[in-house]
Amino acid sequence: MGKNIKRIGVLTSGGDAPGMNAALRAVVRACKYYQIESIGIRQGYEGLINNDMIELGPRSVKNIINQGGTILKTARSTEFRTPEGRKKAYEHLQKNNLDALVVIGGDGSFTGANIFHKEYNVPFIGIPGTIDNDIFGTDFTIGYDTALNTVVEAVDKLRDTATSHDRVFFVEVMGRDAGFIALNSGIASGAQDILIPEQRDSVEDLCDSLERSEESGKKSSIVIIAEGEQLGGVYEIAKQVKARHQEYDIRVTVLGHIQRGGSPTCHDRVLASRLGIAAVEGLLEGKTNLMAGIRSNKIVFTPIDEAIIKHNEIDTELIKVANILAI
Ligand code: ATP
Repeated sequence: MGKNIKRIGVLTSGGDAPGMNAALRAVVRACKYYQIESIGIRQGYEGLINNDMIELGPRSVKNIINQGGTILKTARSTEFRTPEGRKKAYEHLQKNNLDALVVIGGDGSFTGANIFHKEYNVPFIGIPGTIDNDIFGTDFTIGYDTALNTVVEAVDKLRDTATSHDRVFFVEVMGRDAGFIALNSGIASGAQDILIPEQRDSVEDLCDSLERSEESGKKSSIVIIAEGEQLGGVYEIAKQVKARHQEYDIRVTVLGHIQRGGSPTCHDRVLASRLGIAAVEGLLEGKTNLMAGIRSNKIVFTPIDEAIIKHNEIDTELIKVANILAI
């Protein structure tokens, strides 16, 4: 056992993601297993600043593995972005005798932890909890699989009405900077076209695709559009297509925050459980400024700077699959 770590603080930060509770549960139980204490910090970094913390034990995290959201709550803390805010956070960290932090969140949360470490030398390990799957150093982030399944279930329902009325549905899914949700859910739900931030698209190409599908005998279509797509948003795209094709019966659906909620899938629960334990073990081995992730089904640790700066590339094979199947 390393580095005199006896009490670990754990927080969830940034946007919530299904599986954060499973990760918290794993952190708390791993601490108990390794005979150290775990403290839950409420509302992300706000809880450090406001000294809002709670002792946790194995039974405090019962019945949460199946719950979406985060029982610790999460927040976007503007005060933690300031040196004064981080000073307060450090004072409370010391007051509570916390030796290290586990930060469950996205790249913003890791950036905050990294700055905090540079200023106050607080050891920490990050766990990627975000539905967008946009963090380098892991094949999957916690919450992504659940969000994908939520989208696919919703689009399956839209397909029923699209088919019955011969409609074209434009469906906006989450992904401000990354098209992973759009691309994978689009393939899984049989979309005619998928528009993602990473690809240059045009309304002309989209219309060509819809016309081709019509000529091949399709009466209805689904188009999946990531929210960060560059053509002006789902309503604008629908308007431009309608201007070219008055005859299309077009509907727009924005799936919105339902994509963040719900009971985590088996995949997310197992991932969260593994990463929670890995984070505690990593800290006990003296590791810090790392993110615990999974690659080729093996636990890996990635320097936090890399996890923040680098980005996962969209798999061109998946784009090919989507294009071939939209024939
Ligand atoms: P998601 O991917 O779901 O948006 P995230 O972790 O990237 O999650 P952010 O809102 O970007 O979400 O960051 C979460 C919190 O981390 C911020 O509210 C802030 O408290 C802290 N944080 C982010 N960037 C910084 C920074 N440059 N300096 C200090 N703290 C930061």
